[in-house]
Amino acid sequence: MRSSNILAIVGSILAITTTSTVLAQGEAENIAVPRKPEWTAQVNLAAVPNLPVRPIGSGVCENPVCDGTDNDRCFESCGNKPNSDDIYGCPKPKQWALTFDDGPSNYTAELLDMLDQANVKATFCVMGAHVRKYPEIVKRAYDAGHHIASHTYSHPHLMSLSNDEIIAEMKATEEAIVDAIGVKPSYMRPPFGEADDRVKGLMKAMGYKILLWNADPTDYNIYKEANVAAKIKATFVHALGGDDTGLNAHEDPGFISLQHDLYTQSIDQVPAIISLLRGSQYQLMTAAECLGDASPYQKDHGNSDSGAAALPSDTNINAASLPQATSSEPSASAQASSPQASVGIAEVTPNAPVASVHLPTSAAISLSFTPFTIGASCLLSFLLSLSSTML
Ligand SMILES: [Zn+2]
Repeated sequence: MRSSNILAIVGSILAITTTSTVLAQGEAENIAVPRKPEWTAQVNLAAVPNLPVRPIGSGVCENPVCDGTDNDRCFESCGNKPNSDDIYGCPKPKQWALTFDDGPSNYTAELLDMLDQANVKATFCVMGAHVRKYPEIVKRAYDAGHHIASHTYSHPHLMSLSNDEIIAEMKATEEAIVDAIGVKPSYMRPPFGEADDRVKGLMKAMGYKILLWNADPTDYNIYKEANVAAKIKATFVHALGGDDTGLNAHEDPGFISLQHDLYTQSIDQVPAIISLLRGSQYQLMTAAECLGDASPYQKDHGNSDSGAAALPSDTNINAASLPQATSSEPSASAQASSPQASVGIAEVTPNAPVASVHLPTSAAISLSFTPFTIGASCLLSFLLSLSSTML
């Protein structure tokens, strides 16, 4: 983190800082989410459904009854109802958008080298905390013509957060991205693919489109397994072969695949994946490009140029017969059995227990109350520790 960022945080007297803990592979990554009181006032909440905050439940349930008690128990099954605005795949045949989540990381430069070599542009759904850590990597990606989208600041289960907390996740990420590349994204990918109508309403109020996916090699879950290369590539092979990916809520003929630039084992497959897709006459492009969106950045913040080539717009989405099941980005249930690894950086295992708060001090104080109740003394203690450890 740059000293200017520290000073900006410390200098904002009224800023409230919350933290959430993202479990890392090998060690916990404590992420402090900056918060400013004015952020919520900037968002028009009039059209945001007044739905209750949902506790982090047990994930996906079979045949849930989503009008009663199953709502909370079957967290993902009942919360993630696809709607016509959600983006799952590319709208035209023979289009494929590679997307990479949770970065940037210290592997992303290697991935950018691979993409440069193949002359492929991709979409990066970046975490604000990681943008603060590697702003130069985001700049390189943006300058090269890749598409930058938001993936929140600390990778929480958004449905479990209050409106204020969700807004802070997005606004803090916006600031980090604007500081790095000068523009504000207009696409966001909710962590775990989790977004109910309240979350979606908030995203729309903040100018975001919900970017999901319809091909998922579950690299987060198999990156350490034997034959990981074959297993990751199998997802692409099956999709090319016309198999149902189970994620194609809108029956899109083109694909948006999900990988994570946190796993070198997944990145290593990218050249072979590109060859495979091109061998099947697929055109590789960013998600924004396949959606015909030449300016995937919000216009209220400086330069709105995207670096993305303009393509004919064809974003009609067949909203008929939308299935209930949605994502398979690392779910709580999947992550529970995911092996831990010790990889260079603090990597994200996207199963953040946002109910607990860990201050990023060496003592790693754990507080059991909600982030909103952090007192002034704790805040001061945190800021001092942050300044001393980060500068
Ligand atoms: Zn993620």
